[in-house]
Amino acid sequence: MATQLRVRPCRLAANESPYAPLPAVRRAISAASEFAHRYPDTACGEVTEEISRRLDVPAGDVVVGAGSIGVLHGLVTTTCEPATDCVFAWPSFEAYPTLALLSGATPVAVPLRGGVHDLPAMAGAVTARTRLVIVCNPNNPTGTVVGSSDLDQFLADVPEDRLVVIDEAYRDYVVEADTPDGIFLYRNRPNVAVVRTFSKAHGLAGLRVGFLVAHPAVSAAVRKAQLPYAVSQVAQAAAVASLRCSDEVSRRVQRVVAERGRVRVVLRELGWPVPPVHGNFVWLPLGAAAAEFATACAEAEVSVRCFPGHGVRVSIGAPEENDRFLEAVHHYRRQGALLP
Ligand SMILES: *Cc1c(COP(=O)(O)O)cnc(C)c1O
Repeated sequence: MATQLRVRPCRLAANESPYAPLPAVRRAISAASEFAHRYPDTACGEVTEEISRRLDVPAGDVVVGAGSIGVLHGLVTTTCEPATDCVFAWPSFEAYPTLALLSGATPVAVPLRGGVHDLPAMAGAVTARTRLVIVCNPNNPTGTVVGSSDLDQFLADVPEDRLVVIDEAYRDYVVEADTPDGIFLYRNRPNVAVVRTFSKAHGLAGLRVGFLVAHPAVSAAVRKAQLPYAVSQVAQAAAVASLRCSDEVSRRVQRVVAERGRVRVVLRELGWPVPPVHGNFVWLPLGAAAAEFATACAEAEVSVRCFPGHGVRVSIGAPEENDRFLEAVHHYRRQGALLP
């Protein structure tokens, strides 16, 4: 096993869960596979009901899609068109500019400030052309969160007829108490929508399930824009089963959070500038040295995500994978690398 782990490249580039689906989830997948000759429930009824009940939101406000990328695509296509703007922070989730361009909109990337969303600058970037603003909280790849009062101020500054989407893909990993809950913000703000996913904490990235919570005008439009049968019955069954295993999912999240702390402590003891992070990854703001360090990791067969000129994002894996990453760091330093 140890040899196998050594030779296999460590996948720390996509913020996947290191854990295979829970036994109950696997049983649900296997049971649903018997009906693979049938079309899925195109309304995703059971998973929609389960989400609606757990979050205490109307089922009509929930739209389940093929990953959160699926529902984000629906949001962008229903709000944006050529000669309109989609505003987001940068660096942030790499899918945002792609999705904006797909609907002919102009991506407006507002630079982070000290690794954090520059909300005043983002509010300032909202013009008559702006249709959609995305706030990624916690932000991928820097792992930072925006606080409640800053986000409240931002929502007060953005005109009420512009849609603000809060992407909470990493919400489960947040331990910072002051982090706003998008669902709370959406309740009395018709222009706020929230996107969450089963790809991270629930570990179902390969099955493609995510969802949107938004007021009826938005959710109905996105539902109409979804490709029919986009979410397979296997994926729907897995999502329902995973929601019903929330204690075990939380325990797995806690293990990742503990490993995140361990990795960060080791890196900081080496003198690396690793800011606090709130996702299932760490962010190394290496600037110009990012590419060189990512290459060193690749040579050690640890795949990480490089944002050239900005930094390197490293997912938190199983303990032995994190050790392999830390070994690669030690090796890089022994080579007399310049940074940090
Ligand atoms: C990983 C991630 C997602 C998840 O996308 P899926 O399509 O649900 O797999 C969404 N948003 C951000 C910011 C992410 O990092």
